[in-house]
Amino acid sequence: MASSPFRRLCHWGPLSVLGIIKLITWAMVHLLGMWWPPHSSIAAALHAALFLSLAASTLYYFLQSLLEGPGFVPLGWKPEKQEDTDNLQFCTVCNGYKAPRSHHCRKCGYCVKKMDHHCPWINCCVGHNNHGYFTLFLTSAVLGCFHASVVLSICMYHAINRVWYIHSGTGREPLVYLTLTTLLLTLLAIGMAVGVVLAVGVLLYLQVRGILRNQTTIEDWIVEKAVGRREEQGLPDFVFPYNVGWRNNIRLVLYGNKYDGIRWPVRDGCGEYDLTREQQAQKQDKRVRSRLYTAIAEYSGYWVPLRRYPWAALAAPCTDEPRLPLRPGDVIRATRQRRHWLFGEKLIGEGESRGPRGWFPRDAATPTDHLYKTKPD
Ligand SMILES: [Zn+2]
Ligand SMILES: [Zn+2]
Repeated sequence: MASSPFRRLCHWGPLSVLGIIKLITWAMVHLLGMWWPPHSSIAAALHAALFLSLAASTLYYFLQSLLEGPGFVPLGWKPEKQEDTDNLQFCTVCNGYKAPRSHHCRKCGYCVKKMDHHCPWINCCVGHNNHGYFTLFLTSAVLGCFHASVVLSICMYHAINRVWYIHSGTGREPLVYLTLTTLLLTLLAIGMAVGVVLAVGVLLYLQVRGILRNQTTIEDWIVEKAVGRREEQGLPDFVFPYNVGWRNNIRLVLYGNKYDGIRWPVRDGCGEYDLTREQQAQKQDKRVRSRLYTAIAEYSGYWVPLRRYPWAALAAPCTDEPRLPLRPGDVIRATRQRRHWLFGEKLIGEGESRGPRGWFPRDAATPTDHLYKTKPD
């Protein structure tokens, strides 16, 4: 659980981001000093200041989105009106109802307000409270790295031609001198900067698109499934309730602190619980389609169980979702399947209350639907 902001920082993700900011800034300061020294003219000074302010805002918005965090639904939360609980899902970990648009994050350990995704680089979720900061972080990172990739590439060009400039140049060419170490570090910085422009650029595009529609990455999935489900069952089209026009959608992120992240304005003709009810219906569908299995062998929970389940070990699912250790006799409700693996949740006790969830090798269990009546509850 990365709940304390300072503990959140001590993790490979945030430390790598700080390292990349440091490396690119160092390379820019080092090479700009030789190529276009800030003290040589006003234009040069403004140019250097432009980069430094992009670097500073990247660092600032990065720390803000990490320290602010996504905002969590209070433990044990329930809606004001008792009858509204029928429209909401219950989180057994937080022992409370999931507010509309919130989801439980296993890594953060809480239900996250308007959860978008869990970002390993800030080592916490992107949600209601830090959505604006996070988007500004991505924007300054892409702009700063674009600037750095252009400038560093020009400097590399001059560094390669340095000897030629000395012997046959006019004497006015910039002399950029690199040692083997600074050459390697500069190449690394260029690689990082180009990588950030491409990878973070795509993420930024998706975030901006999401903000304009007021639809999070998770809600993209829910809406996609809603369209398929309603088509299949001949129901009317799903209208995403939180898209209140792009101007208002932007305001919701910019002035996010005016909203509590629990109650949301909805568009005309939509209800407060349209999305949560759709989620409940999707979950119900999944339960009806699920199959019951009973464990016939032990499974340790190893990600690559080479000794016991060699075939499964070779085809281990490429996801960081949990693995579900099994003991013979365990009953599991499987909702997803691969050739050698199943994903499901353990059923505990007579009441079939929901236990831990995760992947397990198919060979460790046998289908036992016929032994239990699957009641479409
Ligand atoms: Zn929760
Ligand atoms: Zn999270």
